[in-house]
Amino acid sequence: MSDKKHYVNQAGNDILDSVGAWIYPPCMTKPLEPPKTLQEAIRYFTDPDTCLAFMVEIRWPEGVACPTCGAKDVSFIPTRRLWECKAKHPKRQFSAKVGTIFEDSALGLDKWFAAIWLIANAKNGISSYEIGRSLGVTQKTGWFMLHRIRLAMKSGTFIKLSGKVEVDETFIGPDPQRMHFKRLEARQKDGVIAGKVSKAIVAGLLERGPKGQSRVRAHVVPTTRAEHLTPPIRDHVVPGSEIISDMHRSYWEVRDDYIHSVIDHTKMYVKGHVHTQGIENFWSLLKRMIRGTYVDVAPFHLGAYVDEQVFRFNERKRKDGGRFLAVLQSVMGRRLTYATLTT
Ligand SMILES: [Zn+2]
Repeated sequence: MSDKKHYVNQAGNDILDSVGAWIYPPCMTKPLEPPKTLQEAIRYFTDPDTCLAFMVEIRWPEGVACPTCGAKDVSFIPTRRLWECKAKHPKRQFSAKVGTIFEDSALGLDKWFAAIWLIANAKNGISSYEIGRSLGVTQKTGWFMLHRIRLAMKSGTFIKLSGKVEVDETFIGPDPQRMHFKRLEARQKDGVIAGKVSKAIVAGLLERGPKGQSRVRAHVVPTTRAEHLTPPIRDHVVPGSEIISDMHRSYWEVRDDYIHSVIDHTKMYVKGHVHTQGIENFWSLLKRMIRGTYVDVAPFHLGAYVDEQVFRFNERKRKDGGRFLAVLQSVMGRRLTYATLTT
């Protein structure tokens, strides 16, 4: 009963099961605002009801709706923090976690929110050991949480890049010459490493913008051949845009659909606006993160680490609270099971 009371806002409406009502966490008088600092976030999210109210606000701004049938005629069961749909169908009871990266996880939203805060705002990434220590969970759990959160950080946008776009590729991984042959063999089997190229390759695109507003897309590719380097351009850049690259021949194949400007790095690095220093700056941030925090990234997971750094780069102008919200808004409709991660 006291639980129920907890969800009544100042107007006397039940905030979690009344349709379309503003969601106020208890003892707040204005609509939810994200915390601003880590300390505030920790204090803010210690209360499971605040977490739930926050999640509801993000997920169902128009009022709680059944994830199975979409009906808004649902009632809240405060003791279990679950809703029940009034329509007759299977899976009538649902939690705020259903259909999100949190689904099937026994961890509370407080731990998830804290982890999202940490990873969204750690400039050079955060290790699963650090997550484990900070949240009081095992390293294995920390690792699983990080991978799920990276999935939410993965860009789901279909907005293409345009204007002046720098393209480049980079090699990531230990020097194969100094690698133990068993590890080398394992990596070659992974398929990320093809033929003689033994490092993993990341292809990147950077759309120039006003200071601090350039945007990046990056993908792990199997080789530096045109068949692998040109599809990201065609998929992510509006035809007719200017593609700026080094002399690498693979990029020449986009000349039918794009303006192609080339900088010959054997002669100079900058020729007016023709240079690739924006994307090279991103490569150094990516490598710093991988070397510093993750040390040895299995090629299979490299894509997820790349997504993580792309997210932080593209959201770099936001404050900590804004980056946290940006991740939280993407937790829906993205699920990852342990089996997908380890096979
Ligand atoms: Zn329903």
